[in-house]
This record gives sequence, C-alpha cells and structure tokens, in this order.
Amino acid sequence: MAIGVLALQGSFNEHIAALKRVGVKGEQIRKPEQLQNVSGLIIPGGESTTMAKLAEYHNLFPALREFVKMGKPVWGTCAGLIFLADKAIGQKTGGQELIGGLNCTVHRNFFGSQIQSFEAEISVPEIVAKEGGPPSFRGVFIRAPGILEVGPEVQVLAEVPVPSDKAAKSDPAVENVEENAASEQKVIVAVKQGNLLATAFHPELTADTRWHSYFLKMLSETNQEASSSTSLSSEN
Ligand code: GLN
Repeated sequence: MAIGVLALQGSFNEHIAALKRVGVKGEQIRKPEQLQNVSGLIIPGGESTTMAKLAEYHNLFPALREFVKMGKPVWGTCAGLIFLADKAIGQKTGGQELIGGLNCTVHRNFFGSQIQSFEAEISVPEIVAKEGGPPSFRGVFIRAPGILEVGPEVQVLAEVPVPSDKAAKSDPAVENVEENAASEQKVIVAVKQGNLLATAFHPELTADTRWHSYFLKMLSETNQEASSSTSLSSEN
C-alpha cells in the first residue's frame, strides 16, 4: 500500500521524491476519502495557518483526526509537526486548527523569522541505531518550530541548543515558557509517540533517506502488529 503525503501546500513533492528514493510510492492526499487508500501519512512543511485553512476548506480535519486515532503512522515535518501537536503557541497561533494527538506544546517560529533559518548537524541516536550510517544528520530549519514540553509517553529523538540571539521573544503570553526553554539551553526538535513521528526540520530537503526508511519501518511494524492481532482474534 502507498504512503499518503498531504498535498495542500508546502514541500509535498520533495517528500514524494524522497519516498521514491527508498522505493515507495507517495500518494498525494487532498480529499478525505483518499486517506482510505494509504497505510501511513506524511504531513509536510509549509505554512501551518495556510495549510489549516486549506484542510478546513477540503473538510479534511475529521478524517485526519480519525487516521491518527486509528493508530496509523503519521509523520509531521515542521508545519506538519505543528499540525500534529496538541497545543501550539507563539506568534499568530490564535484560532489555528490542529489535528492533535501528539502530546506536546510546540512554539511556532521558535528560532525567529525566515532570515534566521539555519542548518545544523544534529545527533539522533535512535535513527542511527535502526538505520546505521553517519552519527549525525543535517537538519534544515526553515522558520522552524521548537517543542517546549512533552508528555511522559513522548520519546525525545533530538534536541538542539537554543541560539541565544534566535529564541523568539514575541508573545508576552509565553514569556515564562520561553525562559524555561532558554535556561535549559536546549530545545526539542524531533519526537516519537507510538505511531506519530515529528521533526521540526526537513529531512526531505537532504539526500539522507534514513528518516524516510525509519518511517517505513514504523509502518511495517504497525502492519505486522495488525496482522498478528487479526490472526490471534481469528484463532479465538
Ligand atoms: N513557520 C511555519 C509555520 O508556522 C513552519 C515552517 C516550515 O514548515 N518550514 O507554519
């Protein structure tokens, strides 16, 4: 079965190209019923308020929430991470609709504006353990969010130092949270919670396909669990 890539806006073509490099077909998703034909979903980076408006226009939110609830693997990159978060804060977040399901608080544009976009080498031991290869990954952060808080069921996969000149200082309502994150000097940029994977950066913009292979492994593990529980229930 193909993997869906939400194709409303943003870097969906780049994800489809990366999936092709690992030998899998990426199916563009624009309508709720198309989700029935895919076993997993990637929500790309882009602009999360625009993406939310388009998702609302195409009546996608109920089907996307159902997809997450069914335990199907979903990977959100950047704006996709914001979409999956239970809570989003930061500039211009008011009223923005989210899919939710990922127990975390995400800060939009955590590192600042477009001009403060950056690249950094990041260490992700979990992916290296499963996929091998070089010890670090190139992280492309484009007006990236940062994850400020996670629930106990969330596995932190990667963190980066908070650049003192880049921490967002925009919204008085989140001053305390920002101070906490800044005082720890690190901010979370990749997490996994069961079947949900989320990265604040863009692996689809690099030649390294290990994140996409890792997501495929999450999918095959889910499919195996589903088929073994079906065979168990048919034995009963
Ligand atoms: N800053 C964007 C947002 O808040 C996300 C940027 C991205 O996806 N590269 O939606």
